[in-house]
Amino acid sequence: MLIIDCPYCGPRDQSEFSNGGEAHVKRPDGSAEIGDREWGEYVFIRANPKGIFYERWVHSHGCRKWFNCVRDTSTDEILKIYKIDEERPKLDSFKNNVKTPSGEPNLGSGNFTVKK
Ligand SMILES: [Zn+2]
Repeated sequence: MLIIDCPYCGPRDQSEFSNGGEAHVKRPDGSAEIGDREWGEYVFIRANPKGIFYERWVHSHGCRKWFNCVRDTSTDEILKIYKIDEERPKLDSFKNNVKTPSGEPNLGSGNFTVKK
């Protein structure tokens, strides 16, 4: 279970939140003129990385506000939470947290109870 630090309410249990998928997906320019394939990719295709991922969350059983989160999908570690209107943190600022190329700790797989 995750504790998510809502930027408006403070730390709350994950059960109060809903994941909104990938953040910072840009609507294509000239969307009225693009083809079905391009539009379908915009609507349906999302990144699913193992490692650092920018995603949207909503505090659905709280303030009902959306915010962005940077989470390591291999460990479930939340690296940064920021409001929708705040600037996207650069990926470089999280490199020190990455232990392996796939983003996992050197030992174990997302299980922080394992002694390093
Ligand atoms: Zn909230």
